[in-house]
Amino acid sequence: MRYQRPKGTADILPGDSETWQFVESTARHLFSNYRFAEIRTPMFENFEVFSRTSGDTSDIVTKEMYDFKDKGDRHLSLRPEGTAGVVRAFVENKLYGPETTKPYKVYYMGPMFRYERPQSGRQREFHQIGVEAFGSDAPELDVEVIALGMDLLTRLGLKHLRLALNSLGDQETRSAYRQALIDFLEPHFDELSEDSKVRLHKNPLRVLDSKDPHDQELVADAPSILDFLTPAATEHFNRVKASLDSLGIDYDVDATMVRGLDYYNHTIFEIMADSPALGEGYTTVLAGGRYNGLVEELGGPEMPGVGFGLGVERLVLLMQAEKVAIPDVHPLDVYVVGIGDETSVETLKVVQAVRHAGLTADRDYLARKPKAQFKTANRLDARYTLTIGSQELADQTAHLKSMATGQEVTVKLASIYDDFQQVVASEFKED
Ligand code: ATP
Ligand code: MG
Repeated sequence: MRYQRPKGTADILPGDSETWQFVESTARHLFSNYRFAEIRTPMFENFEVFSRTSGDTSDIVTKEMYDFKDKGDRHLSLRPEGTAGVVRAFVENKLYGPETTKPYKVYYMGPMFRYERPQSGRQREFHQIGVEAFGSDAPELDVEVIALGMDLLTRLGLKHLRLALNSLGDQETRSAYRQALIDFLEPHFDELSEDSKVRLHKNPLRVLDSKDPHDQELVADAPSILDFLTPAATEHFNRVKASLDSLGIDYDVDATMVRGLDYYNHTIFEIMADSPALGEGYTTVLAGGRYNGLVEELGGPEMPGVGFGLGVERLVLLMQAEKVAIPDVHPLDVYVVGIGDETSVETLKVVQAVRHAGLTADRDYLARKPKAQFKTANRLDARYTLTIGSQELADQTAHLKSMATGQEVTVKLASIYDDFQQVVASEFKED
């Protein structure tokens, strides 16, 4: 019996995993540069953690959640996104208290699960990298988070990025706009898609996010939320825009943009990339915004938050399309060639000594002929070979050869065991 991986999942194999590691290590470095620390939360949570935060009418809750009852009859869900779990942890561990410095800044990376129709850059198990910052209302913090997202994608080699920006305002803005949207859409009720009919009275903003083409035509003429911003919300949005300007970060205000999750308010943004790798036009790689109220929603005190999530699969597809060069994470320094079975123990000792000296080393384990071993060394692009045959074994020496220059010297095994780096440095001046 041979098994296939479940639909919508992927194996990330050597050859690709280097790109993933490069993404993750670049992100970790940059995050620490911005003073965000890593948080790791469970891969599954109580169902309510997501249903309360994402919103009853969101695609995530209505269609996409992997939820199940465990053997103890608990209603659990694999996490569809990262923010809800982080907020749950923030509240449960009382990180809102005076012991922690605010803003409290964290990042996460890991798999997320959504039951969706798989297509390029859209899977059922996918990966997100995200950041959250709690405890400040400052518009400049929104901008720090946006700048971090831009920096990350730029550092990973993406070009042709577009930052789309909008404001969803505060509670007052939302309720005024909600009514205006209902008034506008009601005369077209019969034309709306089934999803949008359901959502019109529960959560009309969600109709703006509909992927149905006719819905999209209808909402094109809908009133703009920006006309409903309260003075305070306008002030917040203006300061976000002014700070982006002062950092030289370009953006387009897109008044029709809402986000897939219910919890956003004030600033929302998406960073999109234009690449044929993900179909025609711009595709969203990174998205986020402000979610004041979410901490309270999960039982914490009033505490503002802002963050983003980025889809790693889409990012990697874009990087491959842009042919971003990935640094070789494990180049081979030394390939140890053993001639004859009797050298096998000594070559094992040598290969270990080289590794312990801080260099990368490998050897043959298939009793290949010397010629085949040298071919392997070439194919793996080894910088040096160290060769031991029966004569060398008797003399307690090895032949050290630079693959770049062809230069070859005989060295004592004792000196290899003593300090291999020193051997290389004294024998090959180019190093
Ligand atoms: P979309 O409108 O494309 O479905 P979304 O609004 O559901 O996106 P978010 O919940 O904001 O997406 O997630 C942030 C990012 O995670 C997205 O911009 C995307 O890059 C990525 N993402 C979301 N769903 C998937 C998926 N099923 N497979 C791979 N990546 C995904
Ligand atoms: Mg989605």
